[in-house]
Amino acid sequence: MKHLFISFVIPSYNEEGNILTMMKALKDTMTPSGLRYEVLFVDDGSDDKTMDEIRGALIDYPEVEYVSFTRNFGKEAAILAGLQYAKGDAVILMDADLQHPPELIPQLIRGYEEGYDQVIAKRNRVGDSPIRSLLSRAYYWGVNKTIDVELHDGEGDFRLLSRRAVDSLLQLSEGNRFSKGLYSWIGLEQKTISYENVTRQHGETKWSFKQLLNYAVDGVVSFNTKPLRLCFYAGLLSLFLAIAYISITLIGIIRNGVEVPGYFTIISAVLFLGGVQLLSLGIIGEYVGRIYNETKKRPHYLVRRTSAAVKGKPVSHAKIGNS
Ligand code: UDP
Ligand code: MG
Repeated sequence: MKHLFISFVIPSYNEEGNILTMMKALKDTMTPSGLRYEVLFVDDGSDDKTMDEIRGALIDYPEVEYVSFTRNFGKEAAILAGLQYAKGDAVILMDADLQHPPELIPQLIRGYEEGYDQVIAKRNRVGDSPIRSLLSRAYYWGVNKTIDVELHDGEGDFRLLSRRAVDSLLQLSEGNRFSKGLYSWIGLEQKTISYENVTRQHGETKWSFKQLLNYAVDGVVSFNTKPLRLCFYAGLLSLFLAIAYISITLIGIIRNGVEVPGYFTIISAVLFLGGVQLLSLGIIGEYVGRIYNETKKRPHYLVRRTSAAVKGKPVSHAKIGNS
């Protein structure tokens, strides 16, 4: 399969110090294979020297391509842009921080040659903080009970996607993208390769606890309306309990007359029902918010510059991120 052309898609946000190391590592891995490849850096509105380093790499390595956003649109938008601009027969998604070991690339490509549409690199959680590992284990357990597609702990964006898988992903045009779920949603033939977790060498993770929490909520509400059904059941249960309680109290009143004390029951009922109602309202609000965002049909990202413009090639893909 010497005619195979691989696109590496690297979302990069403030990855100063990592770009050239990454590029060198990719070249060292790809040269022995003799395959043709491009390395597409998607600069997600970095405000450090990331863009300068990408431009530097463009001079030294003919394989480098880039797309640069007008501001930070988030990793999901960067991945989408990468998939839209990539020209390869297969696309390998990798982080810029070298946490995705390039040594695995030959195995990913071998998986593709065996006929798989998705070859997934799965990491273990060695080196992660115990709290983070515990939380994510609990999250995956809970989320897989709730949503229709299956998510696996340790399987992230590091994977090879065949052209068929890329085109399938690009058909999903939702504004609020949750890639982990989308990879699972498209299905196709999949193979998993395991690797040891690697901790970040330069810079810091861009994920705060708050962002992780939001991401977790996205995972659940992006994929179904089961939480709404849960509200319905919670309402039904409280209604049932209320009817039972009213009947018991009414029988007591008929038998023994009205008893005045009732502070505890009233306050418990008010607080419990208030809690259920607010929670349900929150869940409904989450979906309404998403409908609002989808109706605006804004592009996922805006492009400031691309290497195609610099290299003088015609840009064949969409300039804005509406897929
Ligand atoms: N990233 C991005 N846009 C963002 C945040 C992150 O393109 O808004 C990129 C980042 O440059 C890196 C990858 O996404 O290549 C993963 O980010 P990070 O290492 O911060 O996440 P972690 O590995 O901690 O999950
Ligand atoms: Mg990282």
